[in-house]
Amino acid sequence: MADNTCNCSHRQCTFSGEERLCEILDRAGVPHDSKWRTLVFYMRGLGEFSTLNDDQKARIQQLLVDVLHRRDFSEQSYHDILRADRDIRVEPYECRMREALQEAERLAREFRAMLHQRRGDMDKLEQESVRAVESGLDPAEVVRLLRATFSEVREQMDNDAIRVGELTVTDPLTGLGNRRAFDMALAAGEAAWKGGTGLALVLFDVDRFKRINDQHGHRIGDQVLRTVAEVLRRKVDDCNRNLDDGGEGGRECASVVARYGGEEFALVLTGEGAQQAAEIAESVRAGLEGVSFAIRDGQGQVVEHGVRVTLSAGVAHAGPNMAEPLADNLFDLADKALYEAKREGRNRVRVAIGAN
Ligand code: GH3
Ligand code: MG
Ligand code: MG
Repeated sequence: MADNTCNCSHRQCTFSGEERLCEILDRAGVPHDSKWRTLVFYMRGLGEFSTLNDDQKARIQQLLVDVLHRRDFSEQSYHDILRADRDIRVEPYECRMREALQEAERLAREFRAMLHQRRGDMDKLEQESVRAVESGLDPAEVVRLLRATFSEVREQMDNDAIRVGELTVTDPLTGLGNRRAFDMALAAGEAAWKGGTGLALVLFDVDRFKRINDQHGHRIGDQVLRTVAEVLRRKVDDCNRNLDDGGEGGRECASVVARYGGEEFALVLTGEGAQQAAEIAESVRAGLEGVSFAIRDGQGQVVEHGVRVTLSAGVAHAGPNMAEPLADNLFDLADKALYEAKREGRNRVRVAIGAN
């Protein structure tokens, strides 16, 4: 009988109302030590943690399954689980941190190269100026030569400023806008919305992307991200063109596509384009679904055909009554819609019904 077989008495089991679970744990050999029991309850409640994605939850729960299988309830095993749990939790943040550091390094490299180049130009400018002054030419001609040389250097410095500006808002992997470009676009969208213009946000997230990396390696993963970016860019260009063709003198559709981070992309739409956000998102989703990837080895030989990648999208519109802070609320709405798209099976677009 159940009561006789359960050696987890109410006194030993500190979790009231969980006697059934206590029985199961007893049978699995889990010690009565409260730390193991607490660990089990924590793992059991992981479904409620909105900061973890499904894959993280599954991997953390697998840690417990493994330990139950091995029946290893040693101190070492307990600490190993805690460490692995922490690693799985911080992985996405580490990934972002690594990306940020890589970007900072890349920018520093580019700036160094630029400074080096300008240093050379300055040396040349000095030599040419001295040569012009010492040439014995008519002073008016000397001034003309000096002006021309200075103006050349100034033009190069202006180009540097433009290039630096571009670098700081471009994602090096895909060539799309980066997170900074996204933040700027959303802030500009918010300002335009306050002036009465439409504003919508679409968040895209590649489905089960970790598996692509795990199965084919990061190099292929990067290739996939570049293709996703290309599909996005093309579809948004199509939309812009259609809107331009459709209206008298062209209708307004400003859009910024950015790689928000990792395998996540964002599209900020203002003007007429905002009304078409769901349509554009669907066309990007369908466009990527139609792409068949060929996986090549380091020598360029195709090793696998027909690999498919899908993405999910969450769409949110800024309605006239949306509360402040607008950008944050809009983002949360789109994020919620994206979460719904994932929850309902992925490879779909969901539009937020929200506080408008
Ligand atoms: P879901 O459908 O729930 O979104 O699953 P997922 O596997 O796409 O999501 P998860 O967040 O578990 O994994 C995202 C992966 O994206 C983990 C990380 O290693 C990978 N990733 C992030 N940035 C890059 C990158 O620049 N290149 C490559 N190749 N992988 C990246
Ligand atoms: Mg993601
Ligand atoms: Mg994903």
